[in-house]
Amino acid sequence: MAVVAAAADLSLLAYGDQVAGCTRCALAETRTQVVFGSGSPTAELMFVGEAPGFHEDKGGVPFVGAAGKLLSKLLDGIGLSREEVYICNTVKCRPPGNRNPLPEELEACETHLFRQIEIIQPRLVATLGNFATKLLSGKPAGITQVHGREQQVVLGGRPVTLYPIFHPAAALYTPRMLQVLEEDFRRIPELLGLGPAPVAAQPAPVAAPLAAPVEQPLQLGLF
Ligand code: URA
Repeated sequence: MAVVAAAADLSLLAYGDQVAGCTRCALAETRTQVVFGSGSPTAELMFVGEAPGFHEDKGGVPFVGAAGKLLSKLLDGIGLSREEVYICNTVKCRPPGNRNPLPEELEACETHLFRQIEIIQPRLVATLGNFATKLLSGKPAGITQVHGREQQVVLGGRPVTLYPIFHPAAALYTPRMLQVLEEDFRRIPELLGLGPAPVAAQPAPVAAPLAAPVEQPLQLGLF
């Protein structure tokens, strides 16, 4: 097992180095750096978001702004840490002004995402929001229709459970959306075969927006 983990680690590191110089689309001209992904190279659970924002582009790590802090909190609520899962995006470079990724950017970048999935071999891929859900399900149904319902797909040549959930950014200022997100998160341990989420560890309701540095304009098109 340790050998498999070391091999995945090396492959992912090598691939990350390769992608760091990517010029497959025009985002290469405006990015500070490629935001490849972070977490365990042998994670059973992988999260795929939309695209890096202002803070991610500066730091090179996905989901470190306000939406990322909520993602960490939701993970904590089901007894998981960021180090145990893998987190990345459909598009690895920040679209200027946090606009939605363009179809040609998604297309140019999907090779990187599929290779990450091939190396990591997760059992469960949780797609955060519309872009990742549509890309990885291969279907046009939006997140409002399909969130919280697992689908069986083949990714990276292997059967994988795809689990669409709302993007955490959608819940930052909307308590009802936060509740939906928490409910959908609560099913993750069961989908991983770990049994129900620990009741005591469920996140406390967040009444007010998280006290985090204000992210540049929230990424739109999350529904
Ligand atoms: N939103 C995303 O979809 N990805 C990030 O990395 C940050 C915010």
